[in-house]
Amino acid sequence: MHELSLVSSILNIIDDYAGREGFEHVNSLQLSCGKLSGVDPQCLQFAFEVQSKDTRAEGAILKLDILPAIIHCLNCGRNSEVDRIEIRCPECGAEEVLLTGGTEELQLLELDVD
Ligand SMILES: [Zn+2]
Repeated sequence: MHELSLVSSILNIIDDYAGREGFEHVNSLQLSCGKLSGVDPQCLQFAFEVQSKDTRAEGAILKLDILPAIIHCLNCGRNSEVDRIEIRCPECGAEEVLLTGGTEELQLLELDVD
């Protein structure tokens, strides 16, 4: 499960911050990732609960922002939100499209700590 290694790198980042800023406990953390990044929110939540035991982040609320998948059409110039990777512009039907959003890796945006 891909999520286990993601969570352990997030926990390492939290440890680094704690070392520098001296907080004791994490209340909540805000993460984001692209819709097409392959992160399963439920697996992530589960992995977090298991791996955060006995760490500063135990019991913290995990918030995950899913960034939409966006394709940009080179023909009509419009951006469209899609559910999966499309090879055709939903607006004009052209096939000259670029995927411009949705593949972002998991990122830690914010920590609320005590
Ligand atoms: Zn188009």
